[in-house]
Formats: sequence, structure tokens, C-alpha cells
Amino acid sequence: MPLEEYRKKRDFAATSEPEGSGEKKKPVGKIFVVQEHHASHLHYDLRLERDGVLVSFAVPKGIPEKPGEKHLAVHVEDHPLEYADFEGTIPEGEYGAGQVKIWDRGLYEPLYWKEDKIEVVMKGERLAGRYVLVRFRRAGKDEWLLFRAKD
Ligand code: MN
Repeated sequence: MPLEEYRKKRDFAATSEPEGSGEKKKPVGKIFVVQEHHASHLHYDLRLERDGVLVSFAVPKGIPEKPGEKHLAVHVEDHPLEYADFEGTIPEGEYGAGQVKIWDRGLYEPLYWKEDKIEVVMKGERLAGRYVLVRFRRAGKDEWLLFRAKD
């Protein structure tokens, strides 16, 4: 069931995060968002719309802005599309407790999307250009490397 893992981790009576209606919306393009998440460890959540949900990665060091920098990106559970608008504070004791701020958002164009590699063009306010995610199996099953490709 889509979003099952997302919902299992959260108590929607306690957190203001969206539960997700499950309804599929017709978007004008594929949306992406990067949320700055002041949880127990500051990290940035990169979320890419795909098949009615936001495919999500936690990036501890943030999105690399120069070609050549490779940052670890940990694949996490899909989030509902509504999450792209979420900013606020997840209460103490809840999953991911801490402040969430939108760092950037916009549209992206998927160039390639397979099991081990994703390539996109970001069209945000801060992020613009071609980005690549490649699975980094030596590190663990959910670990990927994120880098900016040369334009
Ligand atoms: Mn997070």
C-alpha cells in the first residue's frame, strides 16, 4: 500500500505533517522540494514527485552545488505529495521531531529513472541544472550518492 510506512511512523493527532489523501492530483509538471530538517541531526530532505508520491532521500550534507562534490543520500519512505508544502515543527517525541523549512522547490524533469540510477534536471530557485543519484551498494541498501553533473 502506498504511504503505509510513512503513516506507520507518525501520529497525525500529534504532528501537523499531512497524512496524505492518497488522491492522485494532476500536476502541471513534476515537483521537487528540498526541506531543511532540524531533527536530531540537521539534514536536507530531497523529494521528487513520481507516481503520485514524493520519492524521498535524506541528505546529511545538503545538495551539492558544485560539480565534483558527491554527497551521501539515504533513501527513505515515500511521502505524500502534500508534503511538498509542509513547513513547521514536528513535536518532541514524534518521528523526525524538529523544525522543517522549505530550502528550495520547483519543477524537475526526469531524464533517466532506473533501479540504480536517477538523473534529473532541477528547475528551482536555488537548484538549477542536471543532478544524478547513483546507488552506492557498498555502503548499504538504501544509500545513494548525489552529485551535480557538468552542464
Ligand atoms: Mn527528514
